[in-house]
Amino acid sequence: MTPTAAKVIWLAFQLGWFVLRQQPGRRARRTPIRYSGRDAREFILLGCSLTGLGILPVIYLIAHFPRFADYALWPPQAYAGIAVDLVMLWLFYRTHHDLGRNWSVSLDLRESHTLVTSGVYAYVRHPMYTGFWLMGLGQALLLPNWVAGPAGLVGFGLLFFGRVKREEEMMISGFGEEYRAYMQRTARVVPWLY
Ligand code: SAH
Repeated sequence: MTPTAAKVIWLAFQLGWFVLRQQPGRRARRTPIRYSGRDAREFILLGCSLTGLGILPVIYLIAHFPRFADYALWPPQAYAGIAVDLVMLWLFYRTHHDLGRNWSVSLDLRESHTLVTSGVYAYVRHPMYTGFWLMGLGQALLLPNWVAGPAGLVGFGLLFFGRVKREEEMMISGFGEEYRAYMQRTARVVPWLY
């Protein structure tokens, strides 16, 4: 396993994720919104996530910047990254399937929004965010660079911690006791732990 191979594999997983998002994206644009929590803060947080998971690693791939932060790739770390990214893609596939038309890239309630509590949503209430944490971890394992590697975890971490409480408050405003009871019996991103 060479650094170049690990980079190409990382890119292939990102492309796989991008392709997987196309159909849900088209469907989301056609589904009317009843309430939106999109504001400047959401915009900035989404920008942080995009920078860490997309822009910085792509700059690293194309321009090999910042070169000073490179380190020697330990092959088992890259194999672990592949395993993590396989779970990541599976989880995105499952969460989009389970959420259906309720999915949104930001904080929105749809006109005919339903509360999903089955499928992977029976185990954790933010399984798609579990998927993004795994995407960040896969990046950290596959890109042997102290800046481009961990950038995804930092960028998505900012979005996650800046958003998750607001999202839960929005869901409570939309579904009341039903969502509170759902919160009582589920963890946020790691089953039984957090
Ligand atoms: N946080 C969830 C969903 C991410 S998509 C996850 O990580 O899997 C974000 C949108 O999903 C939000 O705008 C919200 O309206 C919607 N959403 C979040 N949890 C939901 C649920 N249990 N059922 C239906 N819609 C949900």
